[in-house]
Amino acid sequence: MANTITGRCLCGRVAYEYSGSIGPASYCHCEDCRRCTGSAFNIGVRLELADFHITSGNPRSFSKLADSGRALTRHFCPDCGSPMYTSAPKHPDHIYVKAGTLDDPTIVEPAHQNWVASAVRWSLIGPDVRSFEHGSV
Ligand SMILES: [Zn+2]
Ligand SMILES: [Zn+2]
Repeated sequence: MANTITGRCLCGRVAYEYSGSIGPASYCHCEDCRRCTGSAFNIGVRLELADFHITSGNPRSFSKLADSGRALTRHFCPDCGSPMYTSAPKHPDHIYVKAGTLDDPTIVEPAHQNWVASAVRWSLIGPDVRSFEHGSV
């Protein structure tokens, strides 16, 4: 399927459009995702970088070594601060969009959860969702 999907930050200055196939979505309970979302976990959706286009605004980015020991760059709106997507040198063809930025978040359904070892107890997702103590990739 190649329907165009769209998303944006809270203030709307940064917006994107995507026309590729939608990869798997997953929960991430790592400490970095907790801090950068300000919530208990992140939900990332894997998209093809080549089919992803910023249609408005200029996201800012911040890079840090993740719990996996690999560098991750987190992209966010410089005006309202909404976290929007993540990129990593290890996966140069993909970006991981935060499901909450999608205009229609119901198009994805997270299939597994990563970094359960560092999950906050009250944030665990149901046992029917496949779990990984650390990262699955
Ligand atoms: Zn914004
Ligand atoms: Zn994470």
